[in-house]
Amino acid sequence: MRRSRRPKGTVHLVGAGPGDPGLITVRGRDLLSRADVVVCDALASRELLDLAPARAERIHAGRRGGRAGTEPTSVHRLMIDRARRGLDVVHLKGGDPSLFGRIGEEAKALRRARVPFEIVPGVTAALGAAAFAGIPLTDRRHASSVTLATGHLEPGKRGDGTDWEALARSGTLVLYMVFRRLAGIVERLADAGMAATTPVALVRWATLPEEEILVGTLADIAARARAARFGPPALFLAGSVVRLRRVLDWRSRLPLRGRCIVITRPRHQAAPFSEALRAQGATVLLAPAIELVPPRTFAPLDRALARLGAYDAVIFTSANGVARFFARLDAKRADVRDLKGVELIAIGPATAAAIAERGLRVAMVPEEFRAEGIVRALSRRDLRGARVLIPRATVARDVLVRALRERGAEVEVVPVYRTVRSREGAALVRAALRSGRLDLVTFTSSSTVSSFAALFRGRRDGRRLRKVAVAAIGPITAATARREGFRVVLVPKSYTVGGLTEAIVRRFRNSPSGTPRGT
Ligand code: SAH
Repeated sequence: MRRSRRPKGTVHLVGAGPGDPGLITVRGRDLLSRADVVVCDALASRELLDLAPARAERIHAGRRGGRAGTEPTSVHRLMIDRARRGLDVVHLKGGDPSLFGRIGEEAKALRRARVPFEIVPGVTAALGAAAFAGIPLTDRRHASSVTLATGHLEPGKRGDGTDWEALARSGTLVLYMVFRRLAGIVERLADAGMAATTPVALVRWATLPEEEILVGTLADIAARARAARFGPPALFLAGSVVRLRRVLDWRSRLPLRGRCIVITRPRHQAAPFSEALRAQGATVLLAPAIELVPPRTFAPLDRALARLGAYDAVIFTSANGVARFFARLDAKRADVRDLKGVELIAIGPATAAAIAERGLRVAMVPEEFRAEGIVRALSRRDLRGARVLIPRATVARDVLVRALRERGAEVEVVPVYRTVRSREGAALVRAALRSGRLDLVTFTSSSTVSSFAALFRGRRDGRRLRKVAVAAIGPITAATARREGFRVVLVPKSYTVGGLTEAIVRRFRNSPSGTPRGT
């Protein structure tokens, strides 16, 4: 048999950053977005995995929530196998691959198999923790050097090869993998000459919603950690720079710090909203209540795509509608140029942006971002005989259709996607409800309200949920939420995710804040 000439794929060893999905490098994100295979370590975030194409194979390595993933040597074997088949592999590694990332063994195995590889750096946990906790690792008056070391040592044994005196003398000392041996480590550092009064911070789940920071001194940090039931993954930061937190801690001053907010919109659309809320300090729970799937049939859409030039206007009522419409147009190899001369109308700015991204001109965005806004904006036009196409979800309000038809337009509604219920994240919400730490649930469409409500109907959690404050993106969503028994406290003036974020920030800024967690 002839040897396959297919070029080998590359294995990219990519630093995923400390946890916050925004902290991956641009290079890492690009590689991820076109990976064929993604191998993911326990600490790499779920939201990063969502950046990989849906078709990509996903392999979990390492322990995750007590469940064992694939063993390192099998991971190596799998990566080599996929690369030999010509597939591009991204191995997402927590923090930076070169720091306590066992990259040596991996590189050796790849080299031996003659598989090309690349190393993409990442933000290591120490840097993430320092930035998020507001602790500079060096400071002109406090420390001119920093030592990154592993706490995975055997402090009990003599001659363990660790130079404790050197560690104790470090400007700032950061220890990784410190947990089980914390008490022993503290003792050895004290014996080696580190002052008992040295300020120490433990940072757990740095940069993630669960982040916890515990501050003490070398003398009392072990006892404090025990009392607070502090556990891994955590870093140990010692040095007088820890005191500078008083000045540098920028996060506990954020308006949404300590607030726990639920996002119910589909996962693939949640990112801009969750990023905006997190940037204001919120802990965000992603609990998508709906998922978008193809319509039961594409026939009506395909018929419309075959004669796009025949329409006077196409009205898009969501960015999803735009994405699905053009995806089908591409798949059917229909011609975008047929849309020349067809008026493209968008319900709001996000929808308009999605159209503009395709290089097309948006003829109109109404002042009020909902169906009624479009009707009003068209009120002066003679619509008799106008042929209007509306590509949208199978189930949707038909205020628009009715109003346009009454005015004499020929309206054709074609389904471009369908929403189905999703249970993803319901467990997360339930846990937060039970611990009483949920501050706000957000809804960005009526269909998410109904699906979310259905997940909790008739249970005690359902009653608890209805006491939690709710923010709705617009009046229609708010009305649906009220009908479902939710306590709607907030509807922004501008019915956009940006408007919603601003309104949330304003509300919490003005209300007495709860005790921020993690400080
Ligand atoms: N290559 C990684 C480190 C892997 S070793 C990096 O550069 O960050 C795993 C250890 O890193 C954990 O035991 C913990 O000490 C630390 N760590 C990783 N992510 C962390 C996080 N988000 N918060 C606190 N510590 C973290």
